[in-house]
Amino acid sequence: MKIIFLGAPGAGKGTQSKRLVREKHLLQISTGDILRENRDNQTELGLKAQTYMDAGELVPDHLIIKMIFDKMDDTSHVNGYILDGFPRTVAQAEALDDMLAKIHDKIDFVLYLKVANENLIERLSSRYTCKKCGHIYNLNFNPPKNEGKCDLDGGDLFQRRDDKKETVTKRIKIYDDNTRPVIRHYKAKNMVQTIDGYGGVDEIFAKILEAISS
Ligand code: AMP
Repeated sequence: MKIIFLGAPGAGKGTQSKRLVREKHLLQISTGDILRENRDNQTELGLKAQTYMDAGELVPDHLIIKMIFDKMDDTSHVNGYILDGFPRTVAQAEALDDMLAKIHDKIDFVLYLKVANENLIERLSSRYTCKKCGHIYNLNFNPPKNEGKCDLDGGDLFQRRDDKKETVTKRIKIYDDNTRPVIRHYKAKNMVQTIDGYGGVDEIFAKILEAISS
């Protein structure tokens, strides 16, 4: 199963794709997670990407395309994968189409988690992540049992640098300008399953499973 997971920042892609990965034994390829790891380890890629990420801007296509293709090279041993956070521009989508056509492979479908822009700012600015396991909380509708600590492993929770209010508005605008056209790109190919991104985590996950089985 090869899936692309699209949705605005804060729509719940990360939470849902982590869950889908566990349930279906897939590999999650999250460009945001790979970039953050590179940034934290100060690799050459991390150093190049850091300024863009901190400003809430997109990292240039050529860096992302190379990074993701290197990662996808290594997927022969897995049951399938979820591309989470890629492609984010039409140029990235076209590069992916070309690469897959060359190796006679294809994406099965695109899941699009739909949430209106006016709800994203509030979701992003109350989002906290566990330092140890990456589990995501929302202080308003999915808070941890103990303040500042992960329910699963007691790890410290932190707020992503790009989830600060100033950066969030810019990220949503960048999403509208660059990533909405990607949704249209896949809609034109009849590949998109739209999921309503409102409700509890379990409820949304059930809708995703239903969409996959249909
Ligand atoms: P995310 O965790 O998916 O919200 O990604 C965090 C940041 O990483 C984004 O705001 C971008 O700076 C960068 N990034 C992640 N994926 C991509 C991509 N496909 N293209 C360009 N930049 C990306």
